[in-house]
Amino acid sequence: MKKYSVFAVAREAMRHHTGWQRAWRDAEPKRRYDVIIIGAGGHGLATAYYLGKNFGITNVAILEKGWLGGGNTGRNTTIIRSNYLQDPSAAIYEKSRSLYETMSQDLNYNVMFSPRGVIMLAQTEHEVRGYKRTAHANALQGVKTEFISPARVKELVPIIDLDGPRYPVLGGLWQERGGTARHDAVAWGYARACSDMGMDVIQKCEVTGIRQQNGKVTGVSTTRGDIDCDKLGMVVAGHSGHLADMAGFRLPIESVALQALVSEPIKPCMDVVVMANTVHGYMSQSDKGEMVIGGGTDGYNNYTQRGSFHHIEETVRALIETFPMISRLKMLRQWGGIVDVTGDRSPILSKTPVEGIFINCGWGTGGFKAIPGSGWAMAELMAKGRSPLTDAFGLNRFTEGRFIDESVAAGVAH
Ligand SMILES: Cc1cc2nc3c(=O)[nH]c(=O)nc-3n(C[C@H](O)[C@H](O)[C@H](O)COP(=O)(O)OP(=O)(O)OC[C@H]3O[C@@H](n4cnc5c(N)ncnc54)[C@H](O)[C@@H]3O)c2cc1C
Repeated sequence: MKKYSVFAVAREAMRHHTGWQRAWRDAEPKRRYDVIIIGAGGHGLATAYYLGKNFGITNVAILEKGWLGGGNTGRNTTIIRSNYLQDPSAAIYEKSRSLYETMSQDLNYNVMFSPRGVIMLAQTEHEVRGYKRTAHANALQGVKTEFISPARVKELVPIIDLDGPRYPVLGGLWQERGGTARHDAVAWGYARACSDMGMDVIQKCEVTGIRQQNGKVTGVSTTRGDIDCDKLGMVVAGHSGHLADMAGFRLPIESVALQALVSEPIKPCMDVVVMANTVHGYMSQSDKGEMVIGGGTDGYNNYTQRGSFHHIEETVRALIETFPMISRLKMLRQWGGIVDVTGDRSPILSKTPVEGIFINCGWGTGGFKAIPGSGWAMAELMAKGRSPLTDAFGLNRFTEGRFIDESVAAGVAH
């Protein structure tokens, strides 16, 4: 793989861009791999990448039923932060955030990580207490956050109306090194690096069955034939329940649509990410100038990649209370993804009842930020049988009652 650099850009500019290579090979499935990963979203690709980079395991296929990054990875609002309340969450999300800092250099691919800062607005006394508690917990966990005053919020976000009609801004939890990244680029960068290590990224290859013998996985059936493997990673977000069903076990998980929208592009007006969890909306401005807006999940389980109209209205109406200026914007487009939500709003990174099958799911509405950390930890789990970062996130926590409750801590887990 040729290295991307300023010299490569200059060289290609001189020869009318005729020398660029394909970013990754369009591979045909082989008969057998050491490891198969199902799902070429960010988490699946990152798992494969760290299997190769950290453990030298490169006889790997990543199977994707649609196109690479076409699931939630290419549909999210790209918020990156690590200020979670519980220790196991802070550990994996902070590992992830720190890997984002150097991801462009590691992958030799510009993922446009923008540590512009994330504020979670406190708009009730309950939230003030909750976020102060999180700031204290973060201090003990080594995660740099602070509780800031309304005046400081206004300084950071001049377009905000601190005295909203229902919920005045009483402060905020501020993570200065949180931010955003270009979601497609994260998937493309990992895919390119995996392909460069000799792994096969195979698109339009749907897994339709899991083959096993004496309680151990032997391979998968796909729309492009049977493929054998020693180890299998299921990393399919909203489709996790289906895949688990194919393998013969059940997951404590629900799939729901989560949607987002962008406004028409406007001049730069907000250079931080703002989350308003009481009214349930969050907003940032993209590099193109669009206001990127997200809200809550649909209130019922479904597999649509659309979301319902009333949610757009509710989200925008709620945000207008705090940002009156957006009432004058037009919506440019809207989309949805199928997110996989657990009862305690924490992910599952775990062995399964079938030997050789590992599962990574349950990131729900907030897994974009976790992609590198999750891939790092999942690769360790698959290669060595355990990882300190995944210990608390096993499936057994649901039977043993060791929940990692982030729903109370965050309200919205983006
Ligand atoms: C609207 C929206 C906004 C969001 N905002 C944020 C945010 O701001 N910050 C944040 O951190 N997170 C956010 N998220 C959540 C985040 O996008 C997800 O948690 C994350 O992208 C999940 O990545 P993944 O790789 O696990 O799943 P995906 O990207 O969904 O990848 C799973 C892949 O598996 C494939 N697959 C499924 N079944 C099969 C099969 N049988 N065979 C082969 N392939 C299969 C799918 O096609 C898909 O490509 C948001 C999500 C949505 C929908």
